[in-house]
Amino acid sequence: MNNVFLPPDLARSGEGELTFAGQSVSALADRYGTPLYLYDEARIRENCRLFLREMHESFPSGSRPLYAGKAASFRQIYRVMREEGMGIDVVSSGEIHTAASVNYPMDSAFFHGNSKTDEEIAFAMDRSVGYFVVDNPEELLAVDRAAARRGIRQKILLRITPGVDPHTYAAVNTGCVDSKFGNSIETGMAEEILGLALSLPHVALVGFHCHVGSQVFYEDVFETCARIMLGFCRDAEKRHGYRAALLDLGGGYGVRYVESDPEVDLSAKLRSLGRTVREYSAALGIPAPAILLEPGRAIVADAGLTVYTVGAVKRIPGYKTYVSVDGGMTDNPRFALYKSRYTCLPAKESGTGAPMRCDVVGRCCESGDIIAQDVLLPSGIARGARIAVCTTGAYNYSMSSRYNRFPRPPVVMLRDGESYVAVRRETPETVAENDL
Ligand SMILES: *Cc1c(COP(=O)(O)O)cnc(C)c1O
Repeated sequence: MNNVFLPPDLARSGEGELTFAGQSVSALADRYGTPLYLYDEARIRENCRLFLREMHESFPSGSRPLYAGKAASFRQIYRVMREEGMGIDVVSSGEIHTAASVNYPMDSAFFHGNSKTDEEIAFAMDRSVGYFVVDNPEELLAVDRAAARRGIRQKILLRITPGVDPHTYAAVNTGCVDSKFGNSIETGMAEEILGLALSLPHVALVGFHCHVGSQVFYEDVFETCARIMLGFCRDAEKRHGYRAALLDLGGGYGVRYVESDPEVDLSAKLRSLGRTVREYSAALGIPAPAILLEPGRAIVADAGLTVYTVGAVKRIPGYKTYVSVDGGMTDNPRFALYKSRYTCLPAKESGTGAPMRCDVVGRCCESGDIIAQDVLLPSGIARGARIAVCTTGAYNYSMSSRYNRFPRPPVVMLRDGESYVAVRRETPETVAENDL
């Protein structure tokens, strides 16, 4: 097979057995059934520690990473984040409840979203969520009112749109100005919401936030954003005498899914970003604010693997070959949404034939239900064989649905050569449990 790219944590034993975190993928599939989400707990912790270490060493004091929980949100993840000392991003009452229910310290939680309802604002304040990242003036007024009712001053950051297009990497003054998120510097909306925030008695503005995109590989994107945002901090100080204590530069660190994706030296990137922040703050003549980064994908993507069982191999002569599996867009909608690419590997490689080009597809009633297009699998693969889809730790479980009423797969975590269930498999009964 010329599937030479093995993401971290994966290996092939001498007998051709695929292992993940040192454990046989076939044996895990036998034990827990398929489809199956696997996570390597040690890998999640290592990814956290890389950010914690680099941000401690290379960034202004008080800087820290926040895990963007939307990438994968379930109780055990928040236990791990609590133990590792990671801050978190939350975006809904469900994420807030999940984190709070395992005693995650909610004063380290940052509440995001461009359309927070009054109920969610109240829900978050009642659970002492530390920071609200405020998206727009109406929300700002709603947060101020809710804080007034409770007799508190709610700590907030303002979401600012720096106008950087992460996929052309240039700092363009049009790029993302039209985003549904945040307040653009260029249009003057940022300056306006800043004035409003400083005038309100029940919010305490602690700084600014921006997030320009996901799966960013261009070196300059974060540094360009940092410069624009530090410039905005300097202007805030000049115009309002307001000094930002925190500057949140968002998430989006790219992860390698397929061999052709660039290799990322995250440590080097972070060190260089830390240096830019220090040097550029000095050049602007302002004290460097503490920096927050919000990695989601970079924390969990390569710690995850999905295992499926093949249902059928359909060869359409002269056209293509489909390998259908027992999951699909319900557990991994990323191809349907973004044409995402994945590395697919057979759980057993021995004696299974020459490589065959095929599409791995799901079993939903949609032709767009594709997991990976144009991948190589052994031609001898047939019903009952197991295949693994790699690097599925981010935006798979968290984006899963019950379309066609397929019960969701369980989440099984691997730790120290053992495995345990973190989220139970749904059943036909639990799928219907809220129906009256
Ligand atoms: C999605 C998102 C993140 C995380 O992005 P990743 O690409 O998973 O690192 C961080 N912050 C905000 C505001 C986001 O919307």
